Amino acid sequence: MISKTQKRQMRDAVAEIRARMADAARAAGRDPKDVLLCAACKTRTVEEVRYSADLPIDLFGENHVQELVEKTDAAAYNGKPGHFIGHLQTNKVNKVVGRAALIQSVDSTRLLDKIDAAAARLDVVQDILVEINIGEEASKSGVDADGLFPLLESAAAKEHIRLRGLMAIPPADADETAARRFFAQMRELLAKANAQHYDRAQMDILSMGMSGDYTAAIAEGATLVRIGTAIYGARDYSKKA
Ligand SMILES: *Cc1c(COP(=O)(O)O)cnc(C)c1O
Repeated sequence: MISKTQKRQMRDAVAEIRARMADAARAAGRDPKDVLLCAACKTRTVEEVRYSADLPIDLFGENHVQELVEKTDAAAYNGKPGHFIGHLQTNKVNKVVGRAALIQSVDSTRLLDKIDAAAARLDVVQDILVEINIGEEASKSGVDADGLFPLLESAAAKEHIRLRGLMAIPPADADETAARRFFAQMRELLAKANAQHYDRAQMDILSMGMSGDYTAAIAEGATLVRIGTAIYGARDYSKKA
């Protein structure tokens, strides 16, 4: 059960985020409709997600395959798309392909091969983003800038994969100025990628910006922001196995 208070907090939070998103878009001379709100709902229950699905959220993002399966089986997104935004292990690809409208976190040719094969078996084309390790952090997933173009080239060569754009998570300790620089680099990389005119690619998605930095991301061209804490409150990992 979720309480009335919790529902009100979620409603108010989403309204405020939407207003700030629209302001940031307009300030950058952009149409607010061009920025989607992805609720990053890792660790949230089916009930919480189902309630939030009636709010002006465009889509949901999951980090764990098990949660994607559980919440899609329960129809918790209320017909809205679910994206996979976490690190995807190759042995779990089969559960995600066809179920996630977009896999945002592709960062290796091994993963591309598995996704292409799984999509071929289902006779679907899987939309993907390539995740870039924009801060070149040893601990983070994502390709580095050198690995990006070879990876895009192999993705474009796969019949059952469609490239939709790029995703990144800048270093957690970056201040607003540093984060904006990373976001600007992402916009430039997407422009360079589009200049290659890859086969079948439709790279119009730039997924960047979280609870603490989404207005900066929108100022630099984000078309999809992934927000968890600012919608649902702080995560409680102690409840999870
Ligand atoms: C958890 C998560 C988010 C949201 O982070 P918050 O700081 O809670 O808004 C965004 N993107 C990814 C990939 C995440 O794992």
